[in-house]
Amino acid sequence: MTHPAPLPWLPYGRQMIDDDDIAAVTAALRADFLTTGPLVEAFEAAFAEAVGARHAVACANGTAALHLAMLALEVQAGEVVIAPSITFLATANCARYVGAEVVFADVDPDSGLMTPDTLAEALTRVGARRLRAVLPVHLRGDAADLPGLAALAGATGAVLVEDAPHALGTTMTFGNLAERVGDGRHSAMATFSFHPVKTIATGEGGMVTTNDAGLAKRLRVMRSHGMIRPAGADPWWYEMAEPGFNYRLPDILCALGLSQLAKLPRFTARRRALAKAYETELAPLAPLVHLAARPPWSDPVLHLMSVLIDFEAAGVTRRQVVEGLRERGVGSQVHYIPVHRQPYYRARYGELDLPGAERWYSRCLSLPLYPGMADEDVARVIKALGAVLG
Ligand SMILES: *Cc1c(COP(=O)(O)O)cnc(C)c1O
Repeated sequence: MTHPAPLPWLPYGRQMIDDDDIAAVTAALRADFLTTGPLVEAFEAAFAEAVGARHAVACANGTAALHLAMLALEVQAGEVVIAPSITFLATANCARYVGAEVVFADVDPDSGLMTPDTLAEALTRVGARRLRAVLPVHLRGDAADLPGLAALAGATGAVLVEDAPHALGTTMTFGNLAERVGDGRHSAMATFSFHPVKTIATGEGGMVTTNDAGLAKRLRVMRSHGMIRPAGADPWWYEMAEPGFNYRLPDILCALGLSQLAKLPRFTARRRALAKAYETELAPLAPLVHLAARPPWSDPVLHLMSVLIDFEAAGVTRRQVVEGLRERGVGSQVHYIPVHRQPYYRARYGELDLPGAERWYSRCLSLPLYPGMADEDVARVIKALGAVLG
């Protein structure tokens, strides 16, 4: 059986849990270790294998993964991190957790992604400060231009940290090379989240992948209070060079993560089939509605079904569309309100002019997409959208 039971309406995203996921969790509950046990390493090893990275470090959630990445890089107060304005709050907030300043990059208005051009513009605003990391977001699941961004970041001595919760399973082709999001070919680290709407779910959960053994070690130390057990020391001994956090992911949730990860091929196929159905069904609604632009190198496993709507031409507001869809049993969401507009960041950095982010925000809407959707649900969504847009 699949859980939860279908709803009479369609949310924008939802987990899919089978009876064998539940069996895996109950087995973990009967085992010796509820946390810091063998399922943590087992989940990490399976995840590293799935994305093609040398190391994977499990943690409490995707926000903790970003914070750990900043700590592993030893980003210091007053240094700079660049994040796109179209993302979830956490991408920017992680810089503030370590006292670093955020420079918001604009995005391409049609893909919502940070590009080498928008990064180059953001670099002009770093000034004399030291830039440590650039955080591309693979919005909705489409891959950002990692080689282009890495070249620009690298020239300044900074590294890429991919904020990749949307893109588990996404592949990309740069030149002749097939790559996977999270394989770390262009970035120092990539972060993932297992929140229920993401591609695999553990309730709360996160992961950082890297090919750098030193970074992996620091991620593990900072995940657990900054505690180090020196080789050959007394069995009770531990030392702390720097206060870390308790960002561990318990074995109970790693059991669920392992079980869900085994279904990634099935979830991938389902998400791809639904995305294809959307593409076909949406065509008649052009030019009022079109899909977010797909970069040519990206072969995504979409997390979000992002469409761009010309609300002005349709003669309706986004609020009317969201409410009209809801009345017809269709959930939707906006991904995202530009982060630079948040009161906290406005107060800190003043008003910024990021026209690509504004243009993306003014048109974007995420329609239902999750593996538990039936084929006919796509037609139902499009019919509702067509009715609401008149
Ligand atoms: C979900 C998400 C996060 C945060 O993950 P949590 O597990 O909810 O903390 C960060 N960045 C992006 C782009 C996300 O989608």
